[in-house]
Amino acid sequence: MPTYARMPVAFERGEGPWLWSTDGKRYLDAISGIAVCNLGHAHPAIARALCDQASQLIHTSNLYGIANQSKLAEALCAISGLENAFFCNSGAEANEAALKLARLWGHHQGIQRPKVIVMENSFHGRTLFTLSATGNSKVQAGFEPLVDTFVRVPYDDIEAVSALDDPEIVAILVEPVQGEGGVRIPQNDYLKHLRELCDQRGWLLMLDEVQSGMARTGRWFAFQHSDIKPDVMTLAKGLGNGVPIGACLATGPAARVLTQGKHGSTFGGNPLSSRAALAVIETMTREQSAERAASLGQWLVDAFRDALKNTPSVREIRGKGLMIGIELNRPCQALTARAFDRGLLINVTADTVIRLLPPLILSEEEARYLVDTLTPLIHEFTSD
Ligand code: PLP
Repeated sequence: MPTYARMPVAFERGEGPWLWSTDGKRYLDAISGIAVCNLGHAHPAIARALCDQASQLIHTSNLYGIANQSKLAEALCAISGLENAFFCNSGAEANEAALKLARLWGHHQGIQRPKVIVMENSFHGRTLFTLSATGNSKVQAGFEPLVDTFVRVPYDDIEAVSALDDPEIVAILVEPVQGEGGVRIPQNDYLKHLRELCDQRGWLLMLDEVQSGMARTGRWFAFQHSDIKPDVMTLAKGLGNGVPIGACLATGPAARVLTQGKHGSTFGGNPLSSRAALAVIETMTREQSAERAASLGQWLVDAFRDALKNTPSVREIRGKGLMIGIELNRPCQALTARAFDRGLLINVTADTVIRLLPPLILSEEEARYLVDTLTPLIHEFTSD
């Protein structure tokens, strides 16, 4: 089905941050499959783990114990400080689990229509529940009736959340950095204030770290830049470095809501995908990927700010680790094709924001190449 507006290219091989197309051209991948291949392409440690696991056991079922899944849950809890995990196969499914958890949590308190606070310009997935949570009317159009138990407020606006007075509200679902919404980075104390409100009102704080998690922003999880812990956190994308896997983690009372028979998934956390995610965590720990994302991200933001300092069409350059946005004063979707012609893969989101999500294994030389290739393209584009 023609659901994608695809670039006229297919890739057959990758190595680190580089991709080779079927017609032999080389591209620098500054988008990592949309924040998925955080360790780059064909990372030897991930490839070895996958080959080894595939030759032993790929799938059994959640009818039986899965040692890799248990080890993965332990590893994720150790790096996040949360208590337990449910595994699925994508970001939308991870959020679906979180939203079901919130509903059940509400029903346990006798609330008939449990509602969840969500944000404008958010993105949480394309299933009907997560599409309804998403703050983008374009992705919702045509799929009405939507799930109508969401209360939407502007992002990074603590007053708007605080002003809500609805006894049916049971939780907040929020991205610590909005990705699809245009790489929006909230005020430093935003999560802390949300945490306080949740504690005061008995709401669950549910963080969608599908894009911001797995070392992307310079910590394992973006919430670790603040001195708080969520009740629920969702992951996918970079968790498997390209092998589909999602997770919904929880702690405290939220960790005890989804009980036997309340949720499930055929593939979720199978031996192969769990092994991939375990290899990702081991490799990121060994290679200090979060520290790398923090320092290289700062370098890139500084370098772009310097290179584009006298460019009035550039509104803002912002970043958290290697989640970087260059906002222009005009729609710039056309830049994607121009960059592609010069061998560079980028993405434009929210119409005016060039989004860069390079793999965390990018070298300084490759980072310099990215700045040197993209800067003249922005200059040319905005002087047309
Ligand atoms: N949540 C966030 C923050 C995302 O960025 C995305 C995808 O872009 C999703 C959820 C949905 O993930 P998936 O496409 O794996 O269902």
